[in-house]
Amino acid sequence: MGQIGREYLEMPVVKKIAAAREIAWVNPGLVPWEEALSRLGIGGEDIDDAQERLKRFAPFILKCFPETKDRGGIIESDLAVIPSMKEYLNHLCKGAVSGSLLLKKDSHLAVAGSVKARGGIYEVLKHTEELAVSAGLLTQQDDYSKLASDACREFFSQYTIQVGSTGNLGLSIGIASAAVGYRVVVHMSADAKQWKKDMLKSHGVTVVEYASDYSEAVKNGRRESDADPKSYFVDDENSRNLFMGYAVAARRLRGQMEELGIAADARHPLFVYIPCGVGGAPGGIAFGLKELWGDHVHVFFVEPTQAPCMVLGMATGLHSGICVQDVGLTGQTHADGLAVGRPSGFVGKVMEPLLSGEFTVDDWRLYEYMRALLRTEDIFIEPSACAAFEGPLKLLQSEETRKYLEERGLMGRLGEASHIVWATGGSLVPEDERKAYENTILKP
Ligand SMILES: *Cc1c(COP(=O)(O)O)cnc(C)c1O
Repeated sequence: MGQIGREYLEMPVVKKIAAAREIAWVNPGLVPWEEALSRLGIGGEDIDDAQERLKRFAPFILKCFPETKDRGGIIESDLAVIPSMKEYLNHLCKGAVSGSLLLKKDSHLAVAGSVKARGGIYEVLKHTEELAVSAGLLTQQDDYSKLASDACREFFSQYTIQVGSTGNLGLSIGIASAAVGYRVVVHMSADAKQWKKDMLKSHGVTVVEYASDYSEAVKNGRRESDADPKSYFVDDENSRNLFMGYAVAARRLRGQMEELGIAADARHPLFVYIPCGVGGAPGGIAFGLKELWGDHVHVFFVEPTQAPCMVLGMATGLHSGICVQDVGLTGQTHADGLAVGRPSGFVGKVMEPLLSGEFTVDDWRLYEYMRALLRTEDIFIEPSACAAFEGPLKLLQSEETRKYLEERGLMGRLGEASHIVWATGGSLVPEDERKAYENTILKP
């Protein structure tokens, strides 16, 4: 504490955040999508580029990860209607969730079992394409499955990929990089679970452990990587590549919504709730959603009350210039995937004109949502991912978001609304860890 100006610390929302209270925050910077887009300096063509690249790599993915066969080498998750979970939430909030409630199951993405399978794997592949093309091993017209040959693996083995991670990004980068043939070093923060470290080691990945938090792991990883000209650092705090990999999600979601007969337009508002750590995953997804549905989609992030770095950065406008420790919070949370103290400056700036708002949630609720989803829908997702359920529950209950709905004339449209809860991880959690989660009951 101490370096942050008084004027920030005295903002009412910052006081609530500092007191670790659950809050709803509506972004005062939100502007109509067309206006936002004109300011951003990134656009749909960047998402097209990422989408095309992932298509080129599909034959390679298919070869390395046969579990992607059903989708022809495209790593994608299901969109599921969850009416029984809606009933459960409505029981908690006296019927406040109307319209349909859906779960985007990135928790079950192939290869990495979390949302990181989007951005993380995409960035490794993009780097791989650049290296292979400049070495004359590949042209964009080739069948990319040739990259799985012994000669190519031999070539990639001279290069190193490094990343700092709270766990899931490390898993995604580690597994993908090992598949290409790289040497991989993952710098893991103290929050990272032992099973994630063990799983990485089983893929031949070098795991460096830190007693400190995520920012420290990133800083060291970056330093070590920068010292080696043949090493590439995946920079979760600033990477545009990760961001665009995540953004592709919306294109694929559109088709899935059409299949389910779900519309997002002036008469059918779409609300999307995404758990947020450093911001890359939810930010990229949000950008992709806005690019497709503009003002008809309302995106809210959800963070733990002890690690609400993105809302702190956005509410003060300081972005990566402020961290949760600056306002006296610990940064420690059971939501290990969200245990980030300082937000991405790049993502915060991009979100300024397009994010609808944020909610924060106490850790004890995560386990309640987790058990409820398991009981009502027989779906397991990890505690971090459960943060998103706070969104539909609080949308109508919080004064701030009620006002947001009223001002936009959305109150009368909620019966035709859809709410998508973005499940960001869980399918790789080992059975004994799952059981331990199921038995964890925290005090409110
Ligand atoms: C990484 C992660 C997030 C958030 O992604 P960021 O890019 O850190 O904001 C959410 N949920 C889970 C399970 C994650 O692993």
